[in-house]
Amino acid sequence: MTININIGASGQSYCALVGVGLLGQIPDLLDEYAPAYRYAVISDAQVSELYAEGVVSSCRSSGKNVELHSFRAGEASKTRENWSKLTDSLLGTGHGRDSCIIALGGGVTGDLAGFIAATFLRGIPLVQVPTTYLAMIDAAIGGKTGVDTHFGKNLVGAFHAPKCVIADPGVLSTLSIQERSTGLVEAFKHGAILDAEYYDQLCTGTDLLLSADPETAEAAVTASIRLKGQVVTKDELENGYRQILNFGHTIGHALEAASEYKLNHGSAVAAGMVLEAQLGELLGVTEIGTSQALYSDLKNLGIRIEAVSQLDPKAIMSFLGLDKKTRMGRSRYVLLRSIGEVEDSGGWSREVDESLVREVINDIR
Ligand code: NAD
Repeated sequence: MTININIGASGQSYCALVGVGLLGQIPDLLDEYAPAYRYAVISDAQVSELYAEGVVSSCRSSGKNVELHSFRAGEASKTRENWSKLTDSLLGTGHGRDSCIIALGGGVTGDLAGFIAATFLRGIPLVQVPTTYLAMIDAAIGGKTGVDTHFGKNLVGAFHAPKCVIADPGVLSTLSIQERSTGLVEAFKHGAILDAEYYDQLCTGTDLLLSADPETAEAAVTASIRLKGQVVTKDELENGYRQILNFGHTIGHALEAASEYKLNHGSAVAAGMVLEAQLGELLGVTEIGTSQALYSDLKNLGIRIEAVSQLDPKAIMSFLGLDKKTRMGRSRYVLLRSIGEVEDSGGWSREVDESLVREVINDIR
């Protein structure tokens, strides 16, 4: 069965399709949602071998003009250099405004290929085919694309909504257990900020989600896309409400930077969620016990939250002053009231006294 979720408003709406086996239906789905004269599938080397070559050959069998453009897997590839190389490769093979880019892979592919689609001849159609938990429930939804720079991650980019998102949870079976676990942190975040019942389902289903059980994965991917979709539909260009998606990310990004990016993003955000909940408890905003609950549930998911106790608190504090979400040089925090509800204090994030932040950071277990 295919689940169809509508995302976006203001003439930019698109649908996210979720269903086990959808990868095999890509030629028909392209006819329906993104008809084009020519297609360029962009995929990293690992996903190319596993899935993209098959997708290209099934598209060719159905008469489509399509070829594969591949790059080395990993975050280190999400650069302006690769944007330039792949753009040249599309120009060199004669792609035009009647072409469509298919981003087939994890969040790195989605961001890089999405940014190419946003800028190629001032913007051509894009189809997102996410293949990791993180990309299905987060990166492919919301239209953000971009690359990293020496100054920080995701600092150059554009909003570019896809024609559609095609998520086949069947492909999660080949994803490493670590990628499954860290990608699911964002699903727990969706439950924590918006839906207590979904959060409980994630806790109950953790083992099945980690084993990529198709039915359980499909249900979680669907629920998370619905939740993130509702948020980005309300605030497409990140002017207000969309900030709630940053829960855990203010401290999370500082932890990631303080570890010199040795700590992976999912683990950093998981620890950030625990610490930001602790901050909310100290402020009397967050129900007592929320931070402890997040700690145990994310530990059950296989996240080693205690790894952040090795980091230098001074470095973390200094990176908190440099976070991208900082306004006027001070960090802002999204706070929970309880699991399933964020604080609305007339805005969706607020400044917090530096001494309280210091207390939480110095107290990291
Ligand atoms: P990734 O794309 O690097 O994928 C992780 C690894 O899994 C890669 O080695 C990839 O080759 C492999 N892989 C992907 N799918 C596979 C599959 N089905 N089977 C086996 N291996 C597979 O990383 P990610 O965690 O998916 O995404 C992280 C990126 O997403 C970061 O760059 C982050 O900034 C970005 N992101 C973007 C947004 C957004 O709104 N645009 C939101 C969150 C994260």
